[in-house]
Parts: sequence; C-alpha cells; structure tokens
Amino acid sequence: MAERKFLWWQELPYTEVCRWAKEECDLAILPIGAIEQHGPHSPCGVDAFNAIGMAELAAKKSGAMLLPCPMYGSHPYHHWHMPGTIPLSYETHIALLVDIIRGAAVAGYNKFIILSAHGQVSTTLVAVHKLGLEGYFTLSLHWYDFLRDNKDVLEDYMWHADEAETSVGLFLYPQYIDMSKAEPGGGTPLVDRRWIIAPGMTPRPGMMYHFEGTFARPEYLELKNGVIGDPTKATREKGEKLVTRTVDFIVELINDIMTRWPVGVKPPVK
Ligand SMILES: [Zn+2]
Repeated sequence: MAERKFLWWQELPYTEVCRWAKEECDLAILPIGAIEQHGPHSPCGVDAFNAIGMAELAAKKSGAMLLPCPMYGSHPYHHWHMPGTIPLSYETHIALLVDIIRGAAVAGYNKFIILSAHGQVSTTLVAVHKLGLEGYFTLSLHWYDFLRDNKDVLEDYMWHADEAETSVGLFLYPQYIDMSKAEPGGGTPLVDRRWIIAPGMTPRPGMMYHFEGTFARPEYLELKNGVIGDPTKATREKGEKLVTRTVDFIVELINDIMTRWPVGVKPPVK
C-alpha cells in the first residue's frame, strides 16, 4: 500500500481519486455523524467529530478512501426539538446517503462502508437496501456496535454525552470538552430497561434494539441537561482504548472485504 499525503476525497484531484480506486483500494468510507446537543460539557458536533476521527485512523491503517462527512444526520423521534440538535428529515437523509454512494461509484469505487457515530439506523438501514437494489455493496456500521468487548474500559453501556462519548472526545478533540461542566443526567424509558438493548450491550432474549420503538419520551421534556449516563467518569485513557479497539475492528473488516473481493472486483450484489 502506497503512503498517502492526503486521505480525504475533497483534498485530492479527481485523477488521484480515480487512480487510487483502480490501483490501490476501491473501498471508500463515508463517516456520518450528526449535529446534536451533547450536554453542557461537549460540542454539538460530537458525533460527526467521532466519525471523522475514527474513519481517518481506519483509512490510514487500511488504505481506504475517505469521503467527506456530511455534518448533519437523522435522529430518532425523541431527539427532535432539543435546542442545539438539527435533524434532517428521514427522507432527506436517506436520499443524501444514496446520492453520495452513487456519485462516489462513478470514480471507480466498488465497496462502501458508511461509518456512523450516531444512532441513525432508521435511515442507514433503508439507504443500504435501496443501494443494494441498485447493485452497490454497502455496509453501515455504528461505532458503538464495536464496544461489546470493552467492559474492562467502561463502567456503563454507551448512552448519550456520557462516559463513552466524552472519553472519545477527550482523546480526539480535548480542546472542545469542558469537564468542569460535566454532570450526570438520565431519563426513564416508557418500557422497562430489561427489554431495551443499550449500545455496546450483548442482547438477551426478547430485547429490542434501542431505536426499535417509541419507548423514550421526547428529550426536551425528559432530560434536564441533555445527558444520559455519567460523563464525569470519562477519561482520555478510556477514549484512546475505545477508539483504538474500534478502529482495529474496522480495519480487520476492511482487510477481510479486500481479501475476498480484491481491488477492481465488485462484490456481486446484483
Ligand atoms: Zn453522540
């Protein structure tokens, strides 16, 4: 794999974007996040910054091309109307993802990973299957699904603006985090927690994924400080471990895909 000075599509001329797909690696990562309030201690760009930071590290190690990150994302219904949060409508976000992959494929890219650092399965799942019908090989990953083996790092599962997310922020962009303003938050779901899979939790029988229902009250009514979980437990060291392990898993996945379907080979989706 050749060394690269620039990793991002937007930093390169189209000739190099095309050459990279033809000769080096035809897998592109699309990092996606959200513009969403993350409590009084963290910036509203946490999810986008987390996706960008992890995607960049994964690209460095794997040779994947990096597509520019659309900062806005889609949101489960209970996020809407929180100050600081700017949700795209579901239709807009699905169309955005589909259009980006379609456009990137024109340059010769045959494999796509949508790397999300925000809970937006309601649109990523639909986008992936719409793209599948058109013949595009696309996986959509949510970074917290790689947290299941990190019980030695975190005291709690991942929730929101909490121990996990704030730790990642302290590692990737400490200049935007103010721990003097960090305080625990919380809320009570409309069904018992034993039925809800938390991000990073190994599911037990009968559990529903945490966005598989309208089982949370709207956050603007429910949350006092925009936080679910306890960000005071966050540390840079925890963040480094979470990011490194997640990136290593993503690189392993990319290497596996590129071994099965080498550069120039399009996985037979259609
Ligand atoms: Zn977040």
